[in-house]
Amino acid sequence: MPQFMLALVVLSHLLLAAHALRRGDWALCAALAAVPLLLLSRRGWTRLAAAAALVLGAAHWAVTGLDLVQLRLAFGAPWLRLALILAGVCAASLAAGLWLLGARAQGVFARGREAERPQAAAFLLTAGALALACSKASLPLLLADRFLPGSGWLEILLLACYAAWLTGRILDPRAHRRLRPRIWALFSALFFVQLALGLAGLTDLLMTGRLHLPVPALIAAGPIYRGGGLFMPLLFASTLLLVGPAWCSHLCYIGAWDDACSRWGAKRGARPPRVLSKAWTVGGRLAALALACGGALALRLAGAPVATAAWLAAGFGLAGVGVMLFVSRRVGAMAHCTAFCPIGMVGNLLGRLSPWRMGIRLDACTRCGACARACRYSALTPLQIEAGKPGLSCTLCGDCVGACPHDAMHYRFPGLSPALARAAFLTLAVTLHAVFLGVARM
Ligand code: SF4
Ligand code: SF4
Repeated sequence: MPQFMLALVVLSHLLLAAHALRRGDWALCAALAAVPLLLLSRRGWTRLAAAAALVLGAAHWAVTGLDLVQLRLAFGAPWLRLALILAGVCAASLAAGLWLLGARAQGVFARGREAERPQAAAFLLTAGALALACSKASLPLLLADRFLPGSGWLEILLLACYAAWLTGRILDPRAHRRLRPRIWALFSALFFVQLALGLAGLTDLLMTGRLHLPVPALIAAGPIYRGGGLFMPLLFASTLLLVGPAWCSHLCYIGAWDDACSRWGAKRGARPPRVLSKAWTVGGRLAALALACGGALALRLAGAPVATAAWLAAGFGLAGVGVMLFVSRRVGAMAHCTAFCPIGMVGNLLGRLSPWRMGIRLDACTRCGACARACRYSALTPLQIEAGKPGLSCTLCGDCVGACPHDAMHYRFPGLSPALARAAFLTLAVTLHAVFLGVARM
């Protein structure tokens, strides 16, 4: 029986691939034909991902069948044989998909069972978000489509597999602590390498070619000066709704530099990060926010030329780099992000609109301070630990979860257990990271 159903699974994918090829979409054809190859790994998430593809495929066959029958009826052509064939293909696809969701298939695809749902969710969310973004964009978003037109589905499959793999790894709290800075640095490096090559003449590596400075403060100040251009504020706001202030611990292309500088300093001094006072984490950043937004408004009202605004913005960005090199490195904490960057402040404040939080189980906490020594965002003072919740500057980075030897630190989301809340949060964070890898460029 499993052999027969596995053959049906493969055949159903191949039929969907052939259908894509018939419509001229060779990359979607190749991606659909590759899904059964993923099943060879016997990983649980591949079973769920393939099942989702087949159930969606069955819905597609049903809609296609209805359309074709209506067309034939309209022309008075025979339709019964066509209807029977497509109904059979639809039923086979649905049966194969449902079998993959059942208990027998669980036994066949038993590897990595514990993380299969978050991994499959990351795969499907990444593929869905990228496919949606590509279908709505007025220009090719993915590099694959730019260098080999029509091949975008292959990049989508690759990024979705990466998201599934990464989710499986990062769900281990200790691995999360190691991996997060690395994948964040990888994203930032790719972003800036593409920018450098784009400026050097490989213009396909730029998104639109309309350059703006990579200074996070411009997310707020740019639209104020220009009087429009809301793409970045809307993107930032969407991530805040999805993952709260985690923009500043998983997604920002500049924050990764501050993270690296603070780790560099901590390593050299072999001492824990210094906790920055509220005067800096709140007062300092509110002042920077007022300066950035007020300055942008003043420049606009004064009719200042773009070159002047750009030089001032570059100066602000360079001052930030100075903070990373001379302060973050010395104190081992992320001084740029927690005391200088206005967008970090906006993220911490508006991020409260999203329900994700970090919590401290006081019954398990021994006040050993291991979490505070892992926190680079100055969010865990003894008072905050005593209160059972990190301070405003927490970015949900999760470093404290892996650092706590007593499992007292946890992610919170209303109605979810801590384990489920953490899995759901990391699935979303990894999905956004994978999507950004695919589409974030200037
Ligand atoms: S604080 Fe600013 S530079 Fe740091 S991660 Fe957030 S937006 Fe980026
Ligand atoms: S409290 Fe924990 S999750 Fe929040 S910033 Fe500090 S280490 Fe990261």
